[in-house]
Amino acid sequence: MLLVGAGGVGAPAAWALAEAGIARVVVVDDDRVELSNLHRQVLFRDDDVGRPKAETLAARLVERGVDATAIEGRALPDTALSLLSSIDVVIDGVDNFPSRFLLADAAWLCHKPIVHAAAVRWHATMFVTGDGGRPCYRCLFEDLPEGPAPDCASAGVVGPVCGVVGGLAADAALGLLDGREGLVGTLTTLDGRTGELRRVVVRPRADCPLCGTREIHGLDAARYLGPSCDA
Ligand SMILES: [Zn+2]
Repeated sequence: MLLVGAGGVGAPAAWALAEAGIARVVVVDDDRVELSNLHRQVLFRDDDVGRPKAETLAARLVERGVDATAIEGRALPDTALSLLSSIDVVIDGVDNFPSRFLLADAAWLCHKPIVHAAAVRWHATMFVTGDGGRPCYRCLFEDLPEGPAPDCASAGVVGPVCGVVGGLAADAALGLLDGREGLVGTLTTLDGRTGELRRVVVRPRADCPLCGTREIHGLDAARYLGPSCDA
């Protein structure tokens, strides 16, 4: 399993994966633990503040019997394909749109299933693409937003909402690993204020630039410049 983002979504997802008995996880993150993260990044402790998230989360997974390794840094256009080549399933728990679109494109190009999960304020979303690649994230959102989008730093996020979507993402990823495709092509949304969980089927778009018209053949760095985001 490749877990990109060791934050509000990634930390509870990692915990759920470990308790489910996942064998091997590669954790990618370029950030450090902050005091304001601790309410939602449940595997970090007070004395982790200031430490690299990837390394710290991987260490917590090793304590739980997982063969976990850390990569401190971002998934980048020149490294993403090699990063994905040796793994079975990707969990995208990143906090910015450029990285999210990069992972979506890389997963499609490598024929890897991917679970995209994000949370901001009281809302969370999860979208699952199988190894067949359709529908993909670009069927939902064609390209990066042009203006700034709310992020956790400015808009805040409710800890338990992250916990729920992290757990859902882990469950979806384990299902993909196990060959269960029931969530493929579905968008799940959580409203933390009402507790309402909705799931809708997303249809592949014929004019999707990734999986439809196939305009995207590689990870051109210029495609992933944009404002940073939700999640
Ligand atoms: Zn698509």
